[in-house]
Amino acid sequence: MSSSTTLHIWEERAAAMRFSNQAIINGKPVTGDGPLMQAINPATGQILTELASCSKDNIDQAVASARSAFESGVWSQMPRQERKKRMLRLAELITEHTDELALLETLNMGKPISDSLAYDIPETARTYAWYAECIDKQYDEIAPTDADSLATITREPLGVVAAVVPWNYPLLMASWKVAPALAAGNSVILKPAEQSPLSAIRLGELALKAGIPAGVLNIVPGTGPVAGQALGLHMDVDCLAFTGSTATGKRFMEYSGQSNLKQIWLECGGKSPHIIFDDCPDLDRAAMAAAIGIFNNQGEVCIAGSRLYVQSGIYDVFMEKLEQCAIKMQPGNPLDPASMMGAIVDERQLARVMQYVESGKQEGATLRMGGARAHHDSGGFYLEPTIFEVANQTLTIVQEEIFGPVLAVSRFDTEEEVLAQANASHYGLGSGLWTADLSRAHRVSRKLRAGLVWVNCYFDGDVSVPFGGVKQSGFGRDKSLHALDKYTSLKSTWFKLQ
Ligand code: NAD
Repeated sequence: MSSSTTLHIWEERAAAMRFSNQAIINGKPVTGDGPLMQAINPATGQILTELASCSKDNIDQAVASARSAFESGVWSQMPRQERKKRMLRLAELITEHTDELALLETLNMGKPISDSLAYDIPETARTYAWYAECIDKQYDEIAPTDADSLATITREPLGVVAAVVPWNYPLLMASWKVAPALAAGNSVILKPAEQSPLSAIRLGELALKAGIPAGVLNIVPGTGPVAGQALGLHMDVDCLAFTGSTATGKRFMEYSGQSNLKQIWLECGGKSPHIIFDDCPDLDRAAMAAAIGIFNNQGEVCIAGSRLYVQSGIYDVFMEKLEQCAIKMQPGNPLDPASMMGAIVDERQLARVMQYVESGKQEGATLRMGGARAHHDSGGFYLEPTIFEVANQTLTIVQEEIFGPVLAVSRFDTEEEVLAQANASHYGLGSGLWTADLSRAHRVSRKLRAGLVWVNCYFDGDVSVPFGGVKQSGFGRDKSLHALDKYTSLKSTWFKLQ
């Protein structure tokens, strides 16, 4: 099948698509009390559908339904085999609906359909399946107390968990929170981002179909300042797991202090350094990884390698190779399976990214390629892959998270110099380095202040491996068994033995 034929098929499917557009509270569709929101297709600027926006009252209803489901034990006390079976069924349903869910992600936030199909949806399904499998495989502890007593340390679900998530990987980011929270026995309220609510609503429908009882997974589309804030300030939400910008993450810390001291877990922004040493074992692979590291998903990736550091001895040859890779990643129609980059999520984000491009030019960075909008006639929000060369680390484009396809490249001479530059950031999420020297790989990866380090690769990941940051990139870890710590509390029980 040629790519244009396939594009045609996806366009037909998109035209025939019907969107679920209501909140799901206590297992029922609910027309939110807030003003209707619009879901926009970033590839065309056209409205896909209008949809519910939850008010504070709707959030109160969702929390009440989650609490009541939790207290009833319908999920929290369900036999483990049964809870596991239903979560596995949800994973199967996600897989069965791969095409539909992939299309929803692509239409709603502009990522290439090939990425939605190959990555977002399979990884989402795998995340639910992986945590489902944990349900009957985790043991509690007995402390080494003296012979006259027994102290058990047991994990208990927290109760009502709220998840507030961004738009860049709508279903996948949600799954990293919803799946472990459900597996632990909690009831969950998911608030998708305003830009990308459609797949979350569909997830809520599939969860009901999988047998996850009403009230256990509520979906509350709505705005951050109304629905997000109402969850943050709610007196009966026990835990709030957030992925999004550092600025909003800080608000959630305040909401917690102003309300019930709910646990807050933050996966926030990043400005990840990607370092290429002179002895890089494979310059071609590193150049492709550097390009994918910033242009994949239109650069709307929290772990994007947005600060590239290239050692002087290979700088010129590496930049040539990088440019060749970047040229291949021009933005195209997200429904075309041949597109490697799609459209920026909305007009506001595009304007924000363009402001950074302007600031790069004005502050003296050298524009090596890109920097302009593309496909104006489509009505969509496209930007060329953009590479700046910088001589000064204080530039705004080096310091601030852009969340778009804009790379700042610096030349360096020594390991000490590049480590100081790499760590000179408020953020500490991802980082990468390429070297053939094993000792250097260990030395540098230990000194990088980041939650994730990739050595001779970039972006590798698996649900079994923790994901998260340090400094203002947040705290707590998504993925792996460690994520379960966020959604459980430890109970210590003493038994006096006679
Ligand atoms: P955002 O902070 O604007 O929004 C994220 C979520 O918070 C949305 O659901 C939004 O409705 C809600 N929100 C916004 N303002 C709020 C408020 N005042 N009160 C309560 N809730 C509010 O972020 P975004 O633009 O959607 O996403 C981009 C950001 O997400 C980037 O900074 C990116 O790095 C970060 N991100 C981080 C990770 C990670 O794992 N560390 C992953 C993906 C994205």
